[in-house]
Amino acid sequence: PWSLQDFEIGKPLGRGKFGRVYLAREKKSKYIVALKVIFREQIEKYDLYGQLGREMENQSGLNHPNVLRLFGWFADDDRVFLILEYAHRGEIYGVLRRNGHLSEKQAATQYIASLTGALAYCHNEKGVIHRDIKPENLLLDFEGRLKIADFGWSVQTTSKRHTMCGTLDYLAPEMVENKAHDFAVDNWTLGILCYEFLYGVPPFEAENQRDTFKRLKGL
Ligand code: ADP
Ligand code: MG
Ligand code: MG
Repeated sequence: PWSLQDFEIGKPLGRGKFGRVYLAREKKSKYIVALKVIFREQIEKYDLYGQLGREMENQSGLNHPNVLRLFGWFADDDRVFLILEYAHRGEIYGVLRRNGHLSEKQAATQYIASLTGALAYCHNEKGVIHRDIKPENLLLDFEGRLKIADFGWSVQTTSKRHTMCGTLDYLAPEMVENKAHDFAVDNWTLGILCYEFLYGVPPFEAENQRDTFKRLKGL
């Protein structure tokens, strides 16, 4: 079993709603990884047990060149640590920011093809729906290869689900309306991202959530 003693901790790589992520190196092998830290206090406060459990279980079972590997985990008295593959070039969001938008060729061959392949693998071979695909959760390795990250909202399923989750700009209508949903919610997001890669902004972006909601329902 791993412990914090096994790692040298480096610079912060990013943070999400609950997680802080640091560069780290395993002392013996010198292998570079990313350590995602979640405080137990937060886990209790926001009741994240289910989420964290699914993140560990679902992501560790996935082995695909375009899915970020989860190698293992450990905990101490006040934190849980996830040992992740390091994505050297960070979020795809950064590429979009720097370039405004991408060319059709780059969007198609570099990103949409990889994302499609990875989703097909998760859906068809592993029965896992990600449910939170967005530019902050799509990372790039040292060669610029796309990696799907952050399986906190994922579920393993063959039947329809009912929990609403994710970020409004990328949510499928059936999810917004709190109806039953399935693998198709990730595929909807693929369409949203395809638009965003080409135009630089997601298609239903608006001043506030209420207007985004109206736009995505075609009102
Ligand atoms: P949360 O579940 O809180 O959203 P994430 O797993 O999405 O946390 O991580 C938060 C941010 O940290 C990401 O958006 C990304 O910028 C950075 N990050 C996460 N994992 C890695 C990684 N393996 N390599 C590099 N950066 C990462
Ligand atoms: Mg995230
Ligand atoms: Mg998460």
